[in-house]
Amino acid sequence: MLIVMNHKAGPKQIEAVVKAVEQMGLTAAPIPGSERTAIGVLGNHGYVDDTTIRDLPGVQEVIHVSKPYKLVSRDFHPRHTVVKVGDVAIGEGKRPVVVAGPCAVEGEEQIVRTARAVKKYGADLLRGGAFKPRTGPHTFQGLREEGLKLLAIARRETGLPIVTEVMSPDTVGLVAEYADLLQVGARNMQNFELLKELGRIRKPVLLKRGMSATLEEFLAAAEYILAEGNGQVILCERGIRTFETATRNTLDLAVVPLIREMTHLPVMVDPSHATGKRSLVAPMAKAALVAGAHGVLVEVHPEPDKALSDGPQSLTFHGFEALMGEIRRLNEFLGF
Ligand code: PEP
Ligand code: MN
Repeated sequence: MLIVMNHKAGPKQIEAVVKAVEQMGLTAAPIPGSERTAIGVLGNHGYVDDTTIRDLPGVQEVIHVSKPYKLVSRDFHPRHTVVKVGDVAIGEGKRPVVVAGPCAVEGEEQIVRTARAVKKYGADLLRGGAFKPRTGPHTFQGLREEGLKLLAIARRETGLPIVTEVMSPDTVGLVAEYADLLQVGARNMQNFELLKELGRIRKPVLLKRGMSATLEEFLAAAEYILAEGNGQVILCERGIRTFETATRNTLDLAVVPLIREMTHLPVMVDPSHATGKRSLVAPMAKAALVAGAHGVLVEVHPEPDKALSDGPQSLTFHGFEALMGEIRRLNEFLGF
């Protein structure tokens, strides 16, 4: 529920409304940045009878919000959120960021070489999976804590902040010790215990859209993180399942401007997992930036043919260099 006060409402009237909400056993959250004073009501599990509030002095309108997400919506938070990862600012008005690195950390030489290359060509953040959510158990599952340590070495060597996936609530503490930005993969978008645990840490989270999740389900998943107190969330579109088999997934680019309309959170696009094909990564990365994405995430490997996961969609260093040149020109055009 959203309570909109009229222009003349003074502090006393606002206080009275907050009190009335609290007397109902609910939480009143003032909403900064809105044109008029607005108070968000949280904590209800269903319809709220607003009769005791509607007629209070200064109340102009009571809006019932029936969406499964509130904190992520613009109704409750009109100002843009800019997420800081190390010194890198991600969000509205900032130059779009590039996250690059291998699907999985495979060894020290591989991750440090990749980190140096992507840094040289202008990446802002280094990615690399240590805990890998693989479809089958007979494939490479990641180096786990050893992989996190190698990412820390790569960060020390290049200064690039690191992004890596966390798969379970019990490893959030461990991954947060190393990562600058914690990724929730598509397969875990609705791992609610994981989301709640990430809501309790003080580090930013990159939440990828589940491959069969509607936008509403995606935003409701983000809401779990915000509801526990962590507002540093970046949403990431990474392609969804459709009948089309020519690409690994179908990149749903329209959600980029839609997310920007509906929420205050930054949104990124991952053209690597969306397409599954190296040749499609650059065109879709550029399309994402034109659509308004606040960043792109691309997989890069020193020798994609030998990669232990996602080789066919990984860019070579040369391919990444070319993409970065194109992104720089595009950013100029976009005014960054
Ligand atoms: C990844 O980033 O390597 C990954 C597994 O992505 P997704 O969860 O989007 O499939
Ligand atoms: Mn991958």
